[in-house]
Amino acid sequence: MASSLQGIKSIEQFHLDDVRVFLRLDLNVPLDANGKISDDTRLRAALPTISYALEKGAKLVLASHLGRPSKAKDPKKLSMEVVAQALQEMLEVDVFLVEDPASDTPKALLAGLKAKQVILLENLRFNPGEESNSREFAQHLADYTDLYINDAFGASHRQHASIYALPTLVEKKGIGLLMKKEIEMLERVRNHPDKPFVAVMGGSKVSDKITVIEKLMDAVDVLIIGGAMAYTFLLAKGEKVGTSRVEKDRIQFAKDVIRRFESRGKKLLLPVDHLASSSFEHLEDLAVTSSANIPEGKMGLDIGPKTIELFDEAIKTAKTVFWNGPMGVFERKELSQGTFAMAQAIAESDSLSIVGGGDSAAAAEASGFADQFTHISTGGGASLEFLEGVKLPGLEVLRPPKRSEESVEEL
Ligand code: ADP
Ligand code: MG
Repeated sequence: MASSLQGIKSIEQFHLDDVRVFLRLDLNVPLDANGKISDDTRLRAALPTISYALEKGAKLVLASHLGRPSKAKDPKKLSMEVVAQALQEMLEVDVFLVEDPASDTPKALLAGLKAKQVILLENLRFNPGEESNSREFAQHLADYTDLYINDAFGASHRQHASIYALPTLVEKKGIGLLMKKEIEMLERVRNHPDKPFVAVMGGSKVSDKITVIEKLMDAVDVLIIGGAMAYTFLLAKGEKVGTSRVEKDRIQFAKDVIRRFESRGKKLLLPVDHLASSSFEHLEDLAVTSSANIPEGKMGLDIGPKTIELFDEAIKTAKTVFWNGPMGVFERKELSQGTFAMAQAIAESDSLSIVGGGDSAAAAEASGFADQFTHISTGGGASLEFLEGVKLPGLEVLRPPKRSEESVEEL
């Protein structure tokens, strides 16, 4: 299978000295109630490309969106100000925040930009043209762009102005170092995983993950299912699930998956015990169940110790592990054991290990084992779409037209 990067140039292939580079990044960091950055993973992931471009003498315009201003109660809280400050400290350069990306300010600033100075545009989504993929908005950005570089893997599944319309208006374009790494890593899972290949799936909804499961079904040797998703599968097998979260309209899908695994002689592992409680808010009667069945009136909120052992054994044998979806409501300490145990098992296994999904990436970081994964995708939804085989608009727009089409035109 051809690489998704075929024909697409990377930043290392361009001359950068004194070149005005528009660097689209994914600096969409989570903010806490006080407006402080609660996890700077995405900033750290963006640093290699920024540093590389600065070393080569590029005049940098950094750009990203932050949150969803159109839906926020107080959009001003989504200013890139905090990001500017954080980058200034991390990079030890002056970061000039430009309030209106569609004004003449960036061009004027670029003309006088010195070494150790970069421009950061204010939240691109403050301009409605960003999400509507406005050509007019993109034209303003193109006016001060010699080279367009997309390093925003996590935003590349969106056809927005800075991702899509802008590169159609710029002649020189390519990808950054993070984008390249993300695609190469996810392609190893998608195209040629070393066997045994174990996929660990969890999280809140089966419906979110149907296409990924369909896609991985042929390639995996073992599919592990935990999290809320597991209850729909357990119900499909005739187990009792109490008041656990289930998706009734996905029971048939779950039955099909179970049947398809059985008929191919592959392993589908489901929880054999749980941590269950009668209420989600109060965990007074939280207890380990004695079997896969959940007592009446209780809901499963994490996998139990026997399940951890069972899943661990399978992970130990793996040469490739893809993990998407927490095993329980890991945001609460009492319900985080299953998820962190999986993080540890995957991190300590002798496998190429890839984590996809926003909450899973956060869980991997929180587990304390982040350093030992081969790759934790910053992509969230984009990494899942990529695995599903969906073409990312932000990547496709950078690909030159196919040779055959060119030669037809020449004739
Ligand atoms: P990702 O973002 O990695 O793709 P998801 O968004 O699918 O993951 O799922 C994450 C969410 O699933 C978490 O917020 C977690 O609390 C929730 N979750 C996991 N297990 C359960 C459960 N048993 N009951 C309710 N919610 C759960
Ligand atoms: Mg999520």
